[in-house]
Parts: sequence; structure tokens; C-alpha cells
Amino acid sequence: MFDSLQALPADPILGLMQLYRNDAHPQKVDLGVGVYKNDAGQTPVMAAVKAAEVQLLAQQNSKTYVGPAGNEAFVALMKQLTFGECLSSVDDRLAAVQTPGGCGALKVAAELIKTASPTAAIWVSSPTWGNHIPLLGNAGLQLREYPYLSQCQTQLDWPAMQAAMDQVKAGDVVLLHGSCHNPTGVDLTLAQWQWLADKALEKGFIPFVDMAYQGFGDGIEEDAAGLRYMASVLPELLLAVSCSKNFGLYRERVGMVVAMCPSGGASVAATTHMLSIVRGIYSMPPDHGAAIVAHLLANGALANEWRAELDSMRLRIQQLRCQFADTMAALGYPEFQFVANQKGMFSYLGISQPQVTWLAEQKSIYLLSSSRASIAGLSRDNLDYVCHSLAQSITV
Ligand code: PMP
Repeated sequence: MFDSLQALPADPILGLMQLYRNDAHPQKVDLGVGVYKNDAGQTPVMAAVKAAEVQLLAQQNSKTYVGPAGNEAFVALMKQLTFGECLSSVDDRLAAVQTPGGCGALKVAAELIKTASPTAAIWVSSPTWGNHIPLLGNAGLQLREYPYLSQCQTQLDWPAMQAAMDQVKAGDVVLLHGSCHNPTGVDLTLAQWQWLADKALEKGFIPFVDMAYQGFGDGIEEDAAGLRYMASVLPELLLAVSCSKNFGLYRERVGMVVAMCPSGGASVAATTHMLSIVRGIYSMPPDHGAAIVAHLLANGALANEWRAELDSMRLRIQQLRCQFADTMAALGYPEFQFVANQKGMFSYLGISQPQVTWLAEQKSIYLLSSSRASIAGLSRDNLDYVCHSLAQSITV
């Protein structure tokens, strides 16, 4: 049977990680992988997460199954974190379960859409995070793209995005990045979220918010403003949440999927379908990471410590963005100012594929061929080297 299988092409991000690992250059820089790094280039366990984990281990006296819905306390606290002040007015219409990471949430949501409306199309931004395509498309749903970036690849093409929204049919789903758009760093303003909410009402489409970086853009509450506005005015929406980045729990696989339904009765039915979908894929989510988040968020002191640490991570990224733009301007390239204005972990640098290759081969600086750079991969030590090399790549 397996003789017939042809090897698939290597995953570009994993391939890049391998090239970086094998490179012996003492100044090599990894701007590829999408994890937060501190100034020492490490991705440490957050202090509040570690403290919650220690307390939890001391308390835990059973490893029995958690069930397909996962940890209920986690789900309640995460709904609070994401929906904030509008939760009380929508809570009875929310169907929500814990999932293995944001990827699990996207997959469960895709299957739920397929169950409820098999002919619905899902519209994703062009470009979008590479994994959106298999996670959503493999459910058998039709994927459509809406334009997101202007020609220069570093700004939003809002008129083009608006025009595309007019093509979306009633019952279709439009995927929006909650904050810190991956891969571009180009975010929507609150006024643009409001326009999209009006459009969703007018056309009858359903927004699907992928929230993988809450707290990395402008702040925990600020980054949820678009979602909260939509939740307060629309009858239906979908939400996929990841705790990988903002709790630094990547490998623990912690996330949540939410379907906001038009009525409480519909949310009860949607929950039964979510549970049935979960049963058919992974049976139930892992416990440990969600238990850490639940313990942390329920404990005022730990929650405050976590918020402060996340704030400092966000500020570090913002500072790196500004330092990068200032250094490029000092080298004669003020056009990189956009990096300072963008949000979150990633930016498209807007450079050509030959430049990306030149940076890897000549300078051991690795970013994706699309020119997506992981800003958290910059540090005080390598920023000058990266900027000088980038400037050089423009002239060669
Ligand atoms: N959505 C986006 C846009 C992401 O960038 C990520 C993580 N890279 C995820 C979802 C899901 O992450 P995870 O499954 O690791 O929680």
C-alpha cells in the first residue's frame, strides 16, 4: 500500500529551521520561526506560567479523562479574556470547547461549518498564515481569497478588501486575524472592523476571528476590540483562540473554539456537534496546558504577573520594530518605517526573493521566501548586523 506514496515537498518553515541549525556562521540570525524570543534568543517558560504549573503539580491527584469539551474552568476564563465586557450579553449564545491549540480550534470550526452548511465558502486574506489552507480546506470547504495587501506588500489595500466583501455570499464565512496579522503585521483599525461588521449584517456572511496573538499588538483588551465589537452587534460569529504565544505554552497545545449562535437553543445544538466532531478527531484535548491557564487566570496575583510579563514582551517587540526602522532610516532607507507601525511577531519586509536568498547564503540571515521576518528574532546584538546586511542586499 505505502509503495504508492510519493514524498511531499519539504515544509518551507521546517526546511529553513534546518538550514539555520546546520549553519556554522557565528552571527547567524533566525528570523523564520514564529515563536517569541527574548534578547538572549531564548523562548523561556513565562514566570507566572511556571508558578501556576508548580502549584498545579502539587495539587493534582488524578489523571483521569477530562472529556471532549476539555477543562470547563479554562473555557469560562478564556471566554472572559477574549469577549471581555461584552461576555455577559452574549454568553448564553456561545458554544465553546477547549481544543489542542489554535490549530485544533480552526479544525473543529471548519468541521462545524461543514456540518452546518456544506456549501459555505471560507474567505481568507491573501496572504494568510500557510496552515489556514489545510486546516480549513481539508474539511472539504471551498476556500476563496480576498485581497489584503497593496502592491508594495507592506500596507493594507482597504478599497480592494472592501470590494471583495461585496462578492461574499450570504452564509459564507470570512476569516479575519484578531490582531497581529500573520504573516504581514498589517492590522485592521477598529473603524475597519466596524465597517466589516456592518457589511456582515448587510450581506449575511459570518466573520471567523482567528485570535492567536492577543496581547502582542496593542494590549490584551485593545487586541480584542474588533472581536468584541462584532460580538456585540452580530447574530453569529466564530472564534479560534490560541494560548501558544501569549502564555508561551506552544507545545502544551492549548486553545479554544467558540461559535456565537443566534439563540441559546442554537448554541446548545452547536455544542453537541462540536463534541461529536472532537470525538471523531482526537477524542479529547490534552489537560496540562489548559489547567495551567485556568489556574493562572483564576488567581489574581498570578494573572497580574502574567499580564505584566506579556506587556513587557509586547513592548520588546515594539521597541525592536522602532529600532529596526530607525537604523534603516539612518542607513538611508526611510521606507522601512512601516515596520515600526505594524503589529505583532511578523512583518513582510517587502524585499525580493533573490534578496532573501542572498541574505541567507551570504549573511546567514534566514527569513521566509515571501520576505516574512519574525521580529522577535531580532535582538540588541544582531539588529545592526541585520540592518547593515539588508541595506547591502538592496545595493548588490
Ligand atoms: N493562527 C495563526 C494566525 C497562527 O499564527 C497560529 C500559530 N502560529 C495559530 C493560529 C495556531 O497556533 P497553535 O496551534 O500553535 O496554538
